[in-house]
Amino acid sequence: MCRHLAHLGPPRTLAEVLLEPPHGLLRQSYAPADMRGGGTINADGFGAGWYPADSAEPARIRSARPLWADTSFAALAAATRSGAVLGAVRSATVGMPVVETAAAPFTDGRWLFSHNGVVRGWPGSLAGAAARLPVTDLLTLDAPTDSAILWALVRARLRTGEDPADVLADTCASVERDAPDSRLNLLLTDGATIWATAWRHALAVRTHDRDGGEATVASEPTHEFPDWTQVPDRYLVVARPGHHDLYPLTGP
Ligand code: GLN
Repeated sequence: MCRHLAHLGPPRTLAEVLLEPPHGLLRQSYAPADMRGGGTINADGFGAGWYPADSAEPARIRSARPLWADTSFAALAAATRSGAVLGAVRSATVGMPVVETAAAPFTDGRWLFSHNGVVRGWPGSLAGAAARLPVTDLLTLDAPTDSAILWALVRARLRTGEDPADVLADTCASVERDAPDSRLNLLLTDGATIWATAWRHALAVRTHDRDGGEATVASEPTHEFPDWTQVPDRYLVVARPGHHDLYPLTGP
């Protein structure tokens, strides 16, 4: 069921953030610890987005290969430094294609987005919600997957300038109404703040204010530090370097 991670703090290499931690995304790609709703490894692609210095808009790389098999990414990651990173490894849901464009993060303007989970009854359960999107958004969908439609729904509301916390909370509630029993761990950043939901799936957060402060939100803790907090089910976390808040989510 995919794993994802976002990190804010003093600039570090992508390798330090994603590949080198003892239980980082690289290890979670072949030995995840808490997959709950299915899947054993995350070998159906990966992606990483980061904010280059002096850029409000992220750069992004994606692949349909397993993270551990991509030596080019390892080289790039060792040489690329950023203070804001979002990475994901994918375990494709049955019936969804294994293609580069189905891998998170999805992006638009300053946003990076990932979904960890599954929308039950896809695609029919999301047909009503999708029909309310601009046709151009549907024609330019990244891939025929539940996650890509979720991103289109979220993106349409972010464009109107709504509070990202409200957008994610409302999206979980409305998708759950249309597709009960879905797993909707959504992860969003603009490079300065991380917003993430825990909706029937694992999520942890760690923040501290030493050395300029850091914030990490991840499907699974990346280190055995004692200061990780498990995000309770149906909670939203908002994290910035040095501080995070948890808010209960409501919905059917
Ligand atoms: N259902 C999504 C996909 O297939 C997310 C996968 C996951 O979380 N395992 O891309």
